[in-house]
Amino acid sequence: MKYRAPKGVQDIFPPEVYVWQEVEKKAKEVFSVYGYSEVRTPIIEFTEVFTRSIGEDTDIVEKEMYTFSDRAGRSITLRPEGTASVVRAYVQHHLYNLPSPQKFFYLGPMFRYERPQKGRYRQFHQIGAECFGEDDPRVDAELIEMLKRFLEEVGLSGLNFELNSIGCRKCRPEYRDVLIGFLAERVEHLCNDCIRRYRRNPLRVLDCKLEGCRKTTESAPQIPDYLCTECKEHFGALQQYLQRLNVSYTVNPRMVRGLDYYTRTTFEVTSESLGAQNAVAAGGRYDGLVEEFGGPSTPAIGFAVGMERLTTLLMEQREIQPPGLLGFFATMGEEAEEKAFFLVSELRKKGFWVEMDYRGKSLKSQFRKADRLGSRYVFIIGEDEIQKGVIKYKRMSDGAQGEVPEEEFINFLTSV
Ligand code: ATP
Ligand code: MG
Repeated sequence: MKYRAPKGVQDIFPPEVYVWQEVEKKAKEVFSVYGYSEVRTPIIEFTEVFTRSIGEDTDIVEKEMYTFSDRAGRSITLRPEGTASVVRAYVQHHLYNLPSPQKFFYLGPMFRYERPQKGRYRQFHQIGAECFGEDDPRVDAELIEMLKRFLEEVGLSGLNFELNSIGCRKCRPEYRDVLIGFLAERVEHLCNDCIRRYRRNPLRVLDCKLEGCRKTTESAPQIPDYLCTECKEHFGALQQYLQRLNVSYTVNPRMVRGLDYYTRTTFEVTSESLGAQNAVAAGGRYDGLVEEFGGPSTPAIGFAVGMERLTTLLMEQREIQPPGLLGFFATMGEEAEEKAFFLVSELRKKGFWVEMDYRGKSLKSQFRKADRLGSRYVFIIGEDEIQKGVIKYKRMSDGAQGEVPEEEFINFLTSV
């Protein structure tokens, strides 16, 4: 073998790709009735778009970004996530001047230099949604409901919605200090990354996946106990709305998410059958991010779904239905082959998926091929059929046979 794809990237082809297409179609359907329009942002951005928003002390920025200098010496990064790019675009194009809320969804590849393993790749894909301009808890509830509906519509079950609030500019500093105090007394039990960054970014320690850090922080002070009145009310109202919308969830007071821009609401959707990489989707509010990008103060909230984890779950939970081949033309003789060739072209124009044989093989081997392709029908054309002006058919499911006059063939196909 001469070439292999780089480590941690995947080729996606049938039958998996049908699941991908179905998921993308469902996303567009569900999101559109909630008023979300697609936005397509570039895969490359200036590096600062990510370092400033995601945060210098996060895993993504510290060690996962694909960053390089372009030919003019500018630092460019392949997007590791979608929100920062969408916010950059929102501010750059002054979309805050349009009536609020502005709602967008995106889908496409993201890049992170991670250790490849199940559910963790270097090129992976996300479907995400972002809603700009409203801080009402009903908007949070609506967005989470939309995510739930999408995941249900694609056919996933056995999911847990975990919810938390991580406060705002006003109340988080106090919690931060309390947490730093707690961690300072237990430094020897933390991993090197956490020791290095807990003073600057103590919330990161709660998000650390390593057993030692998880154990150490089990008894850590919890952020919901430190929320200010406004954040508490927001979180309370969100929960009430979720209950009334029949979205079940559990509050996970230590879920803080791995990116710095979050404020207030954070959530994660997990599935036990995914093992260690168990988060299918995640999101939260980022009320300060638009301003940080130079726009006016604009509350916002969004989420991203991990496509690989989603499709893996789907393929475990249900069968893949590939698109069905309607008919295969088995021909005898050159004239029949020519006739089939133009007939196939006509039928495809009308939207029927049909195939034919180009190799002048025996009828038997053409039938075998039709069978391997899973064709519903074999259409037979030979000298006799040409003379009589008919096309013979055989239905593969039960062997039923017959012939149809050429001029009625399209009607016949429409009726089967
Ligand atoms: P994790 O905690 O699993 O590392 P994360 O917090 O880094 O996830 P986010 O940045 O919130 O993930 O991205 C949202 C979703 O994208 C995740 O819940 C996951 O489904 C998916 N995802 C993130 N990183 C990867 C990756 N390297 N490979 C595949 N999917 C990923
Ligand atoms: Mg990660």
